[in-house]
Amino acid sequence: IEFVKSDVFYKLSDLLSVAGDILRQGGVVKSIGVDDALRVVEGHEVFHALKLLGVRRVPISRGRSKEVYVPLETLGFYDDVACPGLRVFDNTVELLYKNWPTPLFKLRSLSRRGLTVWAKWEAYNPFSWSIKDRVGWYMFTKALEEGRVSQLLYEATSTNTGMTLAAMAAIHGVRARLYLPSTAQKSSDVWLKTLGAEVVRVSKPLTVDFVGDVEREAARDGAIHLNQFENDRNFEVHLKYTAKELDLQLRHTGVFPRAIIGGLGTSGHMSALSFYFKNRYRGSVKIYGVQPAVGHVIPGIRRIETGMKWVHLVELDGVVDITREDAVNAAIEVARKDGILIGLSSGAVASAFLKIADRLEEGHYILIFPDNGLKYAEIYSTYVKD
Ligand code: PLP
Repeated sequence: IEFVKSDVFYKLSDLLSVAGDILRQGGVVKSIGVDDALRVVEGHEVFHALKLLGVRRVPISRGRSKEVYVPLETLGFYDDVACPGLRVFDNTVELLYKNWPTPLFKLRSLSRRGLTVWAKWEAYNPFSWSIKDRVGWYMFTKALEEGRVSQLLYEATSTNTGMTLAAMAAIHGVRARLYLPSTAQKSSDVWLKTLGAEVVRVSKPLTVDFVGDVEREAARDGAIHLNQFENDRNFEVHLKYTAKELDLQLRHTGVFPRAIIGGLGTSGHMSALSFYFKNRYRGSVKIYGVQPAVGHVIPGIRRIETGMKWVHLVELDGVVDITREDAVNAAIEVARKDGILIGLSSGAVASAFLKIADRLEEGHYILIFPDNGLKYAEIYSTYVKD
C-alpha cells in the first residue's frame, strides 16, 4: 500500500459509506486505477476507505479501475491484529501495539441459561491498563507522522487517556499538561505526575465541560491538543484494531455473537464496534451502549446527552442506564465468582448485561471491559467495609 499514493483527502464521515460497503461485501469489487508512478487516478475513495479499515495491500490496475472481487483476507485485512511470536518486544510502544489482541475469555459469573458471556479485557494494555491506550497511542503517533507534535501537549482526561499520553510524551521527550475533572480519583495525580506530566485539577465533574478551555489554553501556549472527544483517530483505531481483532478472535473460536455491550465515554470504541459488526454481519449483531443513570458518576462513561461525536454516525440497539451502586455490585460479583478485579465502567457493563439478560435470546454475548479495578480502590472501599 505504501507504493500507491493518493493526494485526495476525505473526512471520516465521507468515507464511512464506502468502508461500510467493503465490510458488507467482505472485499473489494473494483480495483483502484493507478498511473505508471503508482499514483491513484481512479477510485480514491476506495483507496482511502481501505486505509481506514487497515489493509496491507490494495488491488490496483494500470489506468482505469476494473471489475474484480478481492476478499479482505487477500488484502491482509487481519494481518496487523495477531500478536507475533513469544511476546518479546523491542521497546515499550511495541509492548502496546504488537501485543494485541487483548484477551477474550468466558465469564462463569455472568453466563446463565443458554447465555454465554465473554469479556474482552482491555486492562491488558501497558500504559494506562485500559482501552484508552489504543486511542492515546494512535492520536499521538499519527500527529507525530504528520509533524504536528510540538514540545507541549495539553489534554482533558478522566485519567486513562492522560496516562497513555503522559507515557507517549515521556517516550518522545514532550511535556504533557493534563486537566483532570473533580470526580477523578485522588491517586490519578500521583500516577500522572510520576509519568512526568503536569496535572491541573479543574473544579468541574465532566471532562467535556472544560475541553473548550483546554483548546484555548493550548492555542495560547502553542501546545498540541489531540482532543480525544473530536479526533477521528479515536474512532479509527477501534475500527482498525479493537473491532477487527475481536472479529478475528470470534471467528477463530467459532463463536457468532448475538450482541456486544460496552460503555459510552467519548463513544469511540462502541461506535467503531457498531460500525464494524453491523456492516460485516449485515445487522445480525446487536449493539448496546451503557451510560450512568441520571445523577450518577461512573468514571470513564457519561450520558449521551452530554455530547459525543461518533455515536450519531452509527446504530445502537439500546442504551442501558446503570447506577453507581449497580456497577460496583456487578464488579464485586465478577470478582467473587471469576476472581478478576474489573473497573467501575466494566462493572456498569456487567450490570447492564444482567439488567437485560431476561430479554435476550440464547447465544453468545460479548462485554467490553475497559480497565481493571485497582484504580477504583477508593470507591470500592466504601462498599466492602464489612
Ligand atoms: N471506561 C473507562 C474506564 C474509560 O476510561 C473510558 C474512556 O475514557 C470509557 C469507558 C469509554 O470509552 P470511549 O471513550 O471509547 O467511549
